Amino acid sequence: MRVGWHPSIEPRLVRAAAGREDLAAYLAAGGYRARVQPERLLEAVERSGLRGRGGAAFSVAVKWKAIAQQPGGRHVIANGEEGEPTSWKDRYLLRTRPHLVIDGMLHAASAVGATDLVIYLSDAEAERSARKAVAELKAAEMALSDDLHINVFAVAPAYVAGEETAAVRAIDGGPPKPLAKPPRPFERGLSGEPTLVQNVETLANLPFIARHGAEAFRECGTHGSPGTILFTANGRCTSPGLYELPLGISLSEAFDVAGGVEGDGAGFLMGGYFAGLLGPRGFELPLDYDVLRATGSGLGCAAVTALGGQDCPVNTAAEVMSFFAEAQAEQCGTCTRGTAAMAATLRTLAAGGADEAEAAMLQRWSVSLRGRGACALLDGAAALAGSLLREFPAAVQAHLDLNCVQCGLPRRRGEVESSPAKQMTRGASTSVCNTIRRRS
Ligand code: SF4
Repeated sequence: MRVGWHPSIEPRLVRAAAGREDLAAYLAAGGYRARVQPERLLEAVERSGLRGRGGAAFSVAVKWKAIAQQPGGRHVIANGEEGEPTSWKDRYLLRTRPHLVIDGMLHAASAVGATDLVIYLSDAEAERSARKAVAELKAAEMALSDDLHINVFAVAPAYVAGEETAAVRAIDGGPPKPLAKPPRPFERGLSGEPTLVQNVETLANLPFIARHGAEAFRECGTHGSPGTILFTANGRCTSPGLYELPLGISLSEAFDVAGGVEGDGAGFLMGGYFAGLLGPRGFELPLDYDVLRATGSGLGCAAVTALGGQDCPVNTAAEVMSFFAEAQAEQCGTCTRGTAAMAATLRTLAAGGADEAEAAMLQRWSVSLRGRGACALLDGAAALAGSLLREFPAAVQAHLDLNCVQCGLPRRRGEVESSPAKQMTRGASTSVCNTIRRRS
C-alpha cells in the first residue's frame, strides 16, 4: 500500500523510510526521551484538543480524567484491532512504527497511573512487529520499569472485535464480542479494574505532544479537530493508500494527495463502512469530526472510499449491509434481525424487486434501530440505510422505476425475480467494495 503525506505538513505519524522502524532508529529520532510529569502531560493533552482516532473522536483528556478518578489498579489497552474493512492505519503503525505506539502507551500509562499494558490486535505482521518491539525494549533494559508490564494479545479478526468492551472481554479470556454498557472499561475493565482502551493512532500522537507541546500539535487542523490524521484513501482514486493529512482540508483536497478521484466522482463511503454514504457534496466538506457529523455523515476511522460513476450507490449499500448482517455478533436480537431485514430489503431494492412501501420501511428502520444494540454496529447499519435514502434519492428512485443505468436494471428484471440472491452475487463482482477487498 502506498504511503504519503500532504505537502503542507511535516509528517508526524508516517515515516519516509520504508520498512519497520527498530528501537535504534526510533531512539535516533528522539523517541522515548520526552517523559513529562503526569499532571503536565494531562494539561498538554487537554490543551492540544486531541480526540480519539478509532472512530468515536472522544476527547482524550476527558477519558483520562474519568479513569484517573477511579479507585484501584489500572490498565492500558492499545487497541490495534482494526475491524473496518477499508482501514489500514493501525496495522501500518504497528507494523512499521511499533515503538511510536509503545512510547504513546507509556505516556498514557503514566498519565492515568497504569502499570499493566496490553497491545491488542489481530494482524499477524503487526503482532510480530509489536512482540519484537517489546523484546527490543526488554533487551535494552530501558523504558520498562520492574513494576510496568507490557504484553501483546492477538485475536482472530472480526468487525466487532475492536469494540472496547470486546477487547476487555477477549483479554480476560472471553469471546471478542461487545458487552452491554454501562459499565464502560474506564469503570470496570480488565480483571474488573479501570482500563483505558485507546486506539493505536491516538497513542501515536502522544510522543509529539509530550515533546513539542500542545501549540505545536495545533499548528495543523481546525479548532475542534486539531492535528493530523491517517487517511486511508480507497476506491476510485488514482493512488489508493495511507496518507497523513492535516485535519480541516476538504475531501477533494484529501483525494488530490491520492492522485485524485477517477472521472467525475459520484460520492463516498465514509468511516470505513461505519459512517455510510455521502453524495458528491462531500467533495467540499472538510475533514472535521463535528462538521461531518452535523451533515449526517462522519469521519470515523478516516478510511474513505471514493465512488465513481460506474458504482451504483444502491448496490454498494446492499453489499455493505450484507457485510454488517454477516459481521454482527448475534448477541442482540434487534441487531441480528434488523441487519438481516435491512440487508434483505436492500438486496431486493438493488435487484429491482422493491416497491415504495419497502423503501419507506427502510427509512423507518434507519431511525428506529439506532441505539438498540450493545455496540455501534447496528447504528452503523442504520446510518448506512438512512444515508442511501438521503444522499442518493435519484438512485433509489431509479431502482424503484427499474431504470438504473449503472445496473442495467431493465434487462435484469426477469432474472432477478427468479433468483435475487444469484443476481446480487453477479452484480457484486465489479463493485467498488470488491475492488477494495482485492487491493487489501
Ligand atoms: S449490536 Fe449487533 S454486533 Fe453489537 S453486540 Fe449486539 S448483536 Fe453484536
